[in-house]
Amino acid sequence: MAAQRVAGEVPKGTKQTSRVRVAVRLRPYMEKQDEKSEGPCVRGLDSQSLEIINWRNATETLHYQFDAFHDEQTTQQEVFLCSVKPILPHILKGQNASVFAYGPTGAGKTHTMLGSQEQPGVIPRAVREVFNLVKAKGKEDDSWDYSIGMSYLEIYNEKVLDLLCPSAHDLPIREDKDRNILIPGLTYTALNSFSDFHTQFLPASLNRTTASTKLNQRSSRSHAILLIKVVRTQQTTPHRQQTGKLYLVDLAGSEDNRRTGNKGIRLKESGAINLSLFTLSKVVDALSAGGGAGRVPYRDSKLTRLLQDSLGGSAHSVMITNIAPEYTYYFDTYTALNFAAKSKQVVNKPFVRETVTVPPVQVKRSREEQEATGSDEP
Ligand code: ADP
Ligand code: MG
Repeated sequence: MAAQRVAGEVPKGTKQTSRVRVAVRLRPYMEKQDEKSEGPCVRGLDSQSLEIINWRNATETLHYQFDAFHDEQTTQQEVFLCSVKPILPHILKGQNASVFAYGPTGAGKTHTMLGSQEQPGVIPRAVREVFNLVKAKGKEDDSWDYSIGMSYLEIYNEKVLDLLCPSAHDLPIREDKDRNILIPGLTYTALNSFSDFHTQFLPASLNRTTASTKLNQRSSRSHAILLIKVVRTQQTTPHRQQTGKLYLVDLAGSEDNRRTGNKGIRLKESGAINLSLFTLSKVVDALSAGGGAGRVPYRDSKLTRLLQDSLGGSAHSVMITNIAPEYTYYFDTYTALNFAAKSKQVVNKPFVRETVTVPPVQVKRSREEQEATGSDEP
């Protein structure tokens, strides 16, 4: 029998973990993304908060707080250590976990999850760590055998597609009697080492990138989902078996496609993306509000249905919201922050545009005027 976690099972003395931990990562300012040379409109304040200009009143900033804030200087290693590494030991104990990169296209989701050869992201680091943890566990306690494997899939237009064995087949999502979510027919590959993973995953992820440039930036319209499974089996009777799942997800872009004037097929794609992302935001909200209280709408989209046993409940979930500092991204950043924030506060002070060359005299005068009028008012 697969001894899986029991929904709602929380060890005594530990906090209910159904809330999704939210981290925000600000990517570095890029001049070429800033057509009007306006400088950044977002900046970090400390390891948990940032501020952004208030679009309703540019003399005010909006102050947001999260579980963690990673500024533009944060390295790939630091993001991994702070937001991902702590949850990995749980999957060796038969628990589930998920890590998502959320945010508009161009804000750094793929950089965060996949990274590059020089700056590997969360995916290669997490997989390497899982192998290290399993190796260490084997040394300290040899009563269990461990095996590691992976699947790689994509949700595109509300269709579930196998990326290890590409075809146009939409795979079904099922639930077994123990409430585990599974996808019959999805390729599952055993992994013996990290280099095994490298060999299997890299070509598949490159496939996806190449296809994306041909098919209307498919990568910004689909959710890429890597599943790493750790199965452990007791060596002696009753040979108990436990499965821990880790989902590593590069979500579709959260930008509002209505503003980009998409038509026809593009509009259909956007609609489908919005359904999964919109449902994800409802699920995260419901979980943050205390989970059990209201209905968590997992069944309303493919993405949330697939993640049902690995998001909320006794699973360990982290959402890394990626944002970009340029004004071009302002409204998408604002929406993403409102989704991610634990709290928001209007701060009544002008935003200091540190990287703008020379502050125009006019701006300076208007600030002085404001201060003068502001202090005279009752
Ligand atoms: P997304 O996947 O959200 O569309 P990307 O990860 O492709 O965004 O990032 C867009 C561009 O910004 C890429 O060229 C990427 O290398 C760069 N980039 C993103 N985040 C960072 C970062 N933290 N440091 C350096 N470059 C970054
Ligand atoms: Mg991307």
